Amino acid sequence: SGPFLSVDDLQVRFRTEDGVVKAVDGLSFDLEKGSTLGIVGESGSGKSVTNLAILGLHHRKATEITGSIKLDGEELVGRTDRELEHLRGRKMAMIFQDPLTALSPYYTIGRQIGETFSKHTGASKKEARDRAVEMLTRVGIPQPSLRVDDYPHQFSGGMRQRAMIAMSLVCDPDLLIADEPTTALDVTVQAQILDLLKDLQQELGTAIIMITHDLGVIARTAHDVMVMYAGRAVERGTVREVLKAPQHPYTWGLLSSMPSLGGPLDVPLRPVRGTPPSLINMPKGCPFNPRCDYQEQAVGGKCSTERPLLAPATGHATACHLTLERQQDIFINQIQPR
Ligand code: SF4
Ligand code: MG
Repeated sequence: SGPFLSVDDLQVRFRTEDGVVKAVDGLSFDLEKGSTLGIVGESGSGKSVTNLAILGLHHRKATEITGSIKLDGEELVGRTDRELEHLRGRKMAMIFQDPLTALSPYYTIGRQIGETFSKHTGASKKEARDRAVEMLTRVGIPQPSLRVDDYPHQFSGGMRQRAMIAMSLVCDPDLLIADEPTTALDVTVQAQILDLLKDLQQELGTAIIMITHDLGVIARTAHDVMVMYAGRAVERGTVREVLKAPQHPYTWGLLSSMPSLGGPLDVPLRPVRGTPPSLINMPKGCPFNPRCDYQEQAVGGKCSTERPLLAPATGHATACHLTLERQQDIFINQIQPR
């Protein structure tokens, strides 16, 4: 029956005054139920755009999407707004970085969670309120039957994020997309929210895409990870593979600047220099080459002429002209502390 979510050669392009932005440029990945894929990269890497395209929340008129996004065997590319609207909530839902963009200040938390439920299930007011209380209980809000009548401003930041999670899970979606869900929170609350998501996933079997710039979040939550740069995956593998034996120079840079949650590696601080490339005028060859310190060590000077492809086709893979041996040697002797 194939993977639960299957993205195949996805391309997302916008027309702008300056030219065509290739925000996602040939991306493929699979995700199974009950599993979490971490997508990591800087802003402009294509990670958020990919997920807006899955949800159908991209700017329709200005955006061209090709390739395939199959959810539970159903093709999402080319579906109408209405069809996607119907799928959102029931089959897929999103958790935003800032709950205040998703929660209205004018209505109680309970009413907002309940309305999402009624809209997709036709539940009565009473059923919707009961469901809201049940969901608040699930996400660990104390005294849920009282707090259900609070307004968002009466909740702390961490509680608002819990309420947001309650709202996104109220219709039992099979796929949950979390875009930097804890960035705005302090480290302790951040860890609690990520653990809550993990527990709920185990209980519900939800597939999760965790979008973040923070490998610490990936280490804590994900099973697989995909590192994105300039609209493509530059490395993918299990979390263990990618965090313990990273192969791509960009991943080394990300590991070096890994903040917050005390990840598995203790790497000296050596963040990636420079800024991401223009997605309108991509550098020739490897798009990472203007920022890469290792291109002289790659075979045949291909870094400035040929865009590397992600290989091998399955398992731990990277898109880089360095040989695997060279990558391992550099990582062990120059990047990882002795
Ligand atoms: Fe660096 Fe070349 Fe590898 Fe690109 S292909 S990451 S420029 S070594
Ligand atoms: Mg983004």
